Amino acid sequence: MHVAIVTVGDELLSGDTTNTNATWLCARLDERGVIVERVTTVPDRIEDISRVVNEYRADYDAVIVTGGVGPTHDDVTMDGVAAAIGRTTAPNEAALSWLTEHGGYSADDLTEGTTDLPAGAEMIPNDVGVAPGAIVEDIYVLPGVPAEMKAMFERIEGHFEGKPTYSTVVAIDEPESTLLDRFTALREQFPVGVGSYPGEHVRVKLTGADPEVVEAAAAWLAERSDVLEDEPTEE
Ligand code: ATP
Ligand code: MG
Repeated sequence: MHVAIVTVGDELLSGDTTNTNATWLCARLDERGVIVERVTTVPDRIEDISRVVNEYRADYDAVIVTGGVGPTHDDVTMDGVAAAIGRTTAPNEAALSWLTEHGGYSADDLTEGTTDLPAGAEMIPNDVGVAPGAIVEDIYVLPGVPAEMKAMFERIEGHFEGKPTYSTVVAIDEPESTLLDRFTALREQFPVGVGSYPGEHVRVKLTGADPEVVEAAAAWLAERSDVLEDEPTEE
């Protein structure tokens, strides 16, 4: 399964908010063996949201959109998603029932527009906040507030399934440029993905379907390298 993530918000583009939602979603999807192909941030603007969502829903199995959900004036994500599939938004009956029956609100308390979702969408309840999420045509719309986004993702994560992979990290205390021949030999012998992440030392992440093969590749590399022993290896 291949998915795209779209994070919405002017505050992300101005650097006021760190995009922890994207990183968290990437990690959770990766754990499930789902391949994330795109992470794109767009402003709170209907046409930008609809253009990107429309493109990605054609290219990937699902699109996850977070942020800009709710009835305040700058929250236009539901309108953007509706426009992407040629629909409008409309008050969602299930969202209203959930908020009045489980959320402890009376219909009169709710700000106008709170239950507006793309027409025909399935509502995702918000266990932590007010604004509901939505599922429509393989587009999953979640709030931006991290606690709300996480709780809502946990309700729908069963929709995201892929082939789980196994990874291990070998931390090597040598310059990356000296490792290139070893990487070539490693890839010739073992069917593993090799990611090389230089920093104070080089973290080499080996990934594959078969844990035994990945561990054999890691042992092969470690034998031939100046390894940092106290680095945690499992990811
Ligand atoms: P609400 O219904 O509360 O307005 P919302 O879905 O409209 O939620 P936003 O208005 O986009 O969400 O953002 C609410 C808060 O959530 C922001 O102040 C920001 O701090 C945080 N937030 C939004 N997007 C992200 C993100 N991608 N990563 C981390 N935090 C985020
Ligand atoms: Mg908001």
